[in-house]
Amino acid sequence: MRYDVIVIGAGMVGTSAAWHLQKNNSKVLMLDRKLPGLETSYGNAGLIQREAIHTHPFPRQITELVRVMPNQGTDIRYRIPAILRYHQALLQYWKYSAPAIVKQIESEWQTLIAHCTSEHQTMIEASGADELITRDGWLQLHRSKETLKVAADTAILDREQGVEHKVLSVDELKALEPNANFDGFVGAIHWLNSWQVSNPSLLVKAYAKNFEQMQGVIKETDVTQIIPLDNVNTDNVDTDVDTDVDAGGKGWKVVTTIGTFYSDNLVIAAGPWSNELIKPLGYNLPLFPMRGYHQHFKVSAKNTIHHSMFDMDKGFVMGPMQQGIRITTGAEMTTMDAPKNFGQLKTVLKLARKILPLDEAVESEAWAGSRPCMPDMKPVIGPAGKHDKLWFAFGHSHQGFTLGPITGRLVEELIHDKSLTVDVEPFNAQRFCKA
Ligand SMILES: Cc1cc2nc3c(=O)[nH]c(=O)nc-3n(C[C@H](O)[C@H](O)[C@H](O)COP(=O)(O)OP(=O)(O)OC[C@H]3O[C@@H](n4cnc5c(N)ncnc54)[C@H](O)[C@@H]3O)c2cc1C
Repeated sequence: MRYDVIVIGAGMVGTSAAWHLQKNNSKVLMLDRKLPGLETSYGNAGLIQREAIHTHPFPRQITELVRVMPNQGTDIRYRIPAILRYHQALLQYWKYSAPAIVKQIESEWQTLIAHCTSEHQTMIEASGADELITRDGWLQLHRSKETLKVAADTAILDREQGVEHKVLSVDELKALEPNANFDGFVGAIHWLNSWQVSNPSLLVKAYAKNFEQMQGVIKETDVTQIIPLDNVNTDNVDTDVDTDVDAGGKGWKVVTTIGTFYSDNLVIAAGPWSNELIKPLGYNLPLFPMRGYHQHFKVSAKNTIHHSMFDMDKGFVMGPMQQGIRITTGAEMTTMDAPKNFGQLKTVLKLARKILPLDEAVESEAWAGSRPCMPDMKPVIGPAGKHDKLWFAFGHSHQGFTLGPITGRLVEELIHDKSLTVDVEPFNAQRFCKA
């Protein structure tokens, strides 16, 4: 059987693309080496971030660099092998982080963020996943009056972009979260129109189940090679899985550990692994990983919380999840295959325990996963460039869970040659090939 579209990757981004395509009458096969939503889209902080209209630039002030340098921080750590391996991407990241460039990047980024909750809502309703969602915002805690004032001033300007907030005193915080100890904090921003998901993996699975209900096909297998069909010798077609395949003409051959599949269009939505798949075709985008860790702690009457809380000055999140209270670290600049390094999480846990009692860990070992990052802080969404009917949808860094559905919608509109909800030009894959 030949598919209209094969999507590689069943994280939030790939699942959303597959869902939109299938809903709009394409015959779609989604391939992943794991079941849907078990990699980066499993372990994130579960926030659908309508407030995330600002990007995460590389620290450029000397004071910031001096702070990060000793590699003991809770928000960002780095490993030398990663600095060496990704040095070119990091140099570009530094360059794109100049304030004037960030302003332009953010104006483009905001065109995606504006659609995040409405696009999730469409998929939530279709998949009956409403019980996973809380629409009561999240809390950005501040330890210093200076950072709170800057955040509050910025938040007022952000209203123009549809972001709603309220500045909270410590007493107001205490009223919202009576179990938390806010000693050392001066107040918070309550982001009102962002949403909390109680189990990010289950939301991806709910979308994937709805995709299957629409006759979409999911196969659990490792993709080992992708080949444009023009290059295939049709006398020697491997039909391990599909015996009636029509391998002639244009399109794609996707080789996996359970057999070979064919399609007209191919979408690469493999998150931080995307480059591995496309490099053999001559693409080398400056995608780099930013690892994060999480661990759950059992919930009791003493530590129940209702909102995710982000310690702005220390860079970690404490969130109420189905599995327990999820403590999520900031970023570790490390390589994909590096062993887990629990130093950052240990320091985060010391701080978190001052806010909430976290007596019993749910898992013996913390989870780790990698945000797929691009140096200009924007995802890649659109045609690959060198090959017909090859589409990219990856590199959403800190907000891929938020942006999966709008990305999926855009991929569908591109493949079906419709008018676009958002101009994808700023997210094109060719932007790194220029000069
Ligand atoms: C600690 C942490 C906290 C975060 N918090 C948030 C948050 O609160 N809100 C938010 O919006 N974002 C958050 N993010 C970012 C977000 O999780 C990611 O941007 C998003 O999950 C990326 O989704 P994806 O579908 O691109 O990638 P993934 O979810 O990683 O999916 C890619 C899939 O491709 C599959 N794959 C790769 N290679 C192959 C192959 N060769 N064959 C078959 N399958 C393959 C993988 O198995 C995987 O399932 C956070 C990230 C981290 C690490």
